[in-house]
Amino acid sequence: MSQDSPKVAVTSLVKSFDKLPVLRDVNLEVYAGEVVVILGPSGSGKTTLLRSLNFLEQPDSGTIRVCGHGISIARGQPLSREDKQQITQLRQKTAMVFQAFNLFPHKTALENVTEGLISVRKMEKSQAIARGRALLKQVGLAEKADSYPAKLSGGQKQRVAIARGLAMEPEVIFFDEPTSALDPELRDEVLSVMRQLAGAGMTMIVVTHELRFAREVADRVIFMEGGAIVANEKPAVFFDDGASPRIKQFLNRY
Ligand code: ADP
Repeated sequence: MSQDSPKVAVTSLVKSFDKLPVLRDVNLEVYAGEVVVILGPSGSGKTTLLRSLNFLEQPDSGTIRVCGHGISIARGQPLSREDKQQITQLRQKTAMVFQAFNLFPHKTALENVTEGLISVRKMEKSQAIARGRALLKQVGLAEKADSYPAKLSGGQKQRVAIARGLAMEPEVIFFDEPTSALDPELRDEVLSVMRQLAGAGMTMIVVTHELRFAREVADRVIFMEGGAIVANEKPAVFFDDGASPRIKQFLNRY
């Protein structure tokens, strides 16, 4: 893959649930090191777009390429074996952080972080533990390594989930409303870890309602409505002079 080719490239993406069109001809490119924030009203297709990028949702048609792997989907065509291999490879280069954390409740914070390294990457246990501890330290949770999720706050759980994603050394991280399940006072600790990752050059696509984060951290802000991308701008343009009346109305509600 050349230096200049996008990390994520989506072309003509279409998806319906039953008869409901949810993504209508979505086109998107995200380059290495970019932080792209996706905003938009509830039901506009943000989560479906994000989940389509690593095939947690199967689009109806369109092309998705992530980190040099991807497939073209034609309506009604089943995935080939080659397509499935591409999806597996693509998933190995990405991480997804969910609103609901999705930690294993019967594993400690450290075990949650090391699980993939040991079972998928087949890393030596002692090496995985050392890496897991370093990652927990990076997200400010060194002292919580042996705690179970039930003993952690929401913000701590989400930071463990981020450390778990980082353990697999992803080239791109997808965040699906990572702070929406958190009380306001716990959001900043998660957002500050995300800022730190952005500052370190991680490529990130973030569905969120955190407008301050979008303004301060995003390289680009995408606004979705009715299953389509209706704005794709630098934050300065999006938040200041470029917004349509519809977007201004949305922003005023937050
Ligand atoms: P957003 O993230 O912008 O709130 P979503 O992508 O979650 O939007 O949802 C877009 C539309 O698709 C909504 O109308 C939602 O109800 C519908 N939808 C999402 N997931 C499913 C599903 N698994 N089955 C049926 N409809 C769904």
